[in-house]
Amino acid sequence: MANLKLSHIYKVYENGHKAVNDFSIDIADQEFIVFVGPSGCGKSTTLRMIAGLETITAGDLFIGDTLVNDMEPKDRDIAMVFQSYALYPHMTVYENMAFGLRNRKMPEEEIKQRVLKAAKMLDIEDYLDRQPKAMSGGQRQRVALGRALVRDPKVFLLDEPLSNLDAKLRATMRTEITALHKSLKTTFIYVTHDQVEAMTMGTRIVVMKLGYVQQIDTPMNLYNEPYNKFVAGFIGTPQMNFFDVKLLRDHDKVIINFANNDKVTVPYEKVSKIHKSYLNGDTTVTFGIRPEHISLNKKGDGLKFIVTNVENLGNETIVYGKLGDHLGEFTMKDEGNNIVVKVVDTNDIAVGDVVYATPNPSKVHFFDAETEVTLMNKIPLYNTLTAKHTGDKMELLDHSVALPEVFREALKGKDSFELSVPPHAIVPGKDFQLKVARIEDVDDKHLAYLVNGDSYLFALVDDKVKEGSMYDFSLLNDKVNVAVDGTNVLEAIADEETLLGHFTKTEVKENGDRVLHFFYNIGDYVLEAAPEQGYKINSIDGDNCYKNTYRYAVSREKIRLVGADEAGLDGKVTEILDYGNIRFAKVNADNQELLIHVDKDFKADKVRVAFDSSDVSVYSTRIDMKIC
Ligand code: ADP
Repeated sequence: MANLKLSHIYKVYENGHKAVNDFSIDIADQEFIVFVGPSGCGKSTTLRMIAGLETITAGDLFIGDTLVNDMEPKDRDIAMVFQSYALYPHMTVYENMAFGLRNRKMPEEEIKQRVLKAAKMLDIEDYLDRQPKAMSGGQRQRVALGRALVRDPKVFLLDEPLSNLDAKLRATMRTEITALHKSLKTTFIYVTHDQVEAMTMGTRIVVMKLGYVQQIDTPMNLYNEPYNKFVAGFIGTPQMNFFDVKLLRDHDKVIINFANNDKVTVPYEKVSKIHKSYLNGDTTVTFGIRPEHISLNKKGDGLKFIVTNVENLGNETIVYGKLGDHLGEFTMKDEGNNIVVKVVDTNDIAVGDVVYATPNPSKVHFFDAETEVTLMNKIPLYNTLTAKHTGDKMELLDHSVALPEVFREALKGKDSFELSVPPHAIVPGKDFQLKVARIEDVDDKHLAYLVNGDSYLFALVDDKVKEGSMYDFSLLNDKVNVAVDGTNVLEAIADEETLLGHFTKTEVKENGDRVLHFFYNIGDYVLEAAPEQGYKINSIDGDNCYKNTYRYAVSREKIRLVGADEAGLDGKVTEILDYGNIRFAKVNADNQELLIHVDKDFKADKVRVAFDSSDVSVYSTRIDMKIC
């Protein structure tokens, strides 16, 4: 039994190919995690790094509380099952299962007990004297599982174990492996390219594409709330339908306008998390709707299409069709106008029929046409508010509050502007008041829908805030973007400061031993790094590490001002940024600019800043990668 932690894991192969990028996950004890994605997306590489069969380029891998990056595979207490079974052909089933235990010099009596127990669980007791060649694929895979089972490992790793089996056997083995996981109460990590295996077996699924994790979630959440178009299309059969559309808000409705000018509407309430900039009738977005979330009628209600194929599967019917063109004519050539609908109890639809499709408004998905990321984030990324300023006041949300000095300078006399406010920048305070229409629990957070005219302002609130009450709040002015006529004039201040620097070492003799000390160098500021961080940087970049430039990132709140007697980075204060509720000193140090949080009375031309090396994250600039 074990939990695992993968923290910013990367794999760069010797030919420079980045097979896995910034893979992080906490796997709880007894989870059944599935890595899924198309061939070549980095699933096996990740699994092999966990097994210890592949070196980890960067990042930390923990099994239990132990960092195992450099631990030999045999010492990791994991067992791996391969697609190819990897059985010894000249040994019997018993010998195959006993082989690893004998290598570990386990007493024969205990080996026998373990093999018999595993054979019983896998229903291969009658085959123990056979050689693998006299067995079917399914039986061989059971032997491979048995060989892993007898070792009683902390973690099971399974690499496409069922892909050599026929469809029927795969379905049976799926159930058996799931049952095995339940009875063993061990952590399973399972690699497959088959989304059905992933959905039916995993407690959580990691969807990967081209070396990047796309989403980590439960099967149901992946199905209901895919983070992007790739995940939406990958999970579910037949695949989700995608259409290029434009959205237009019309009071309590949103009109979905298709390329052929057909329209369907959904209630605004169902899509209120979509940012208003996508609801202007002019921005192309990708509309996604699953075949099973469309209903059909012949009454002329909805999206018109001609039926091109009907697959009657008994319990359900898959209807394939093509939307009409601008003139309502059906052309069979255009690839972008396909529609697939899954219906039950329909036997009156035939090829050539003209029918109408209406999407279930609770099941619609929308994605940005370029980034392909969902427009319906569980927690919207930001709210956009229109503001005006007169003199030193800002008119916002029907209230008049002080205009932060930094805003005034950025506005350069413009009196109308827009604020982009992330939900976490709305905090309890006295400046504004709105009614709480709804509270939604999102993971461990509470998302409040605050009524702002005919739309919502989304805020994160604590669990004491109740639906129907009035919520008093202020904005964290440094966390908002300011724009004039759609162009940003002031960016939100990031939570992290980044500085470029170098990496050095010194070698000293301590009690007769040679000991290496490693340092982060930013200008003249030399910060001793923990030895393990130093070795990591060295192992990734080799001796080039002493020539490369590194990006050192530190949380802004960890940066302190220190006196002349303490080591630090000397800088010149070039400006004080007054955001009203918070102030920053803009500092030029080592020809780089950084912002330091200062209090109201702060007055100085020169400062020395410092932070702890344990608070620093190091990024390689050579291959964009977090090292430690
Ligand atoms: P998957 O298991 O998802 O099919 P892999 O993890 O096997 O994908 O491979 C991920 C990527 O890394 C692929 O593009 C593959 O070609 C590449 N790759 C795998 N092994 C090596 C290697 N030894 N050297 C270079 N590239 C490799």
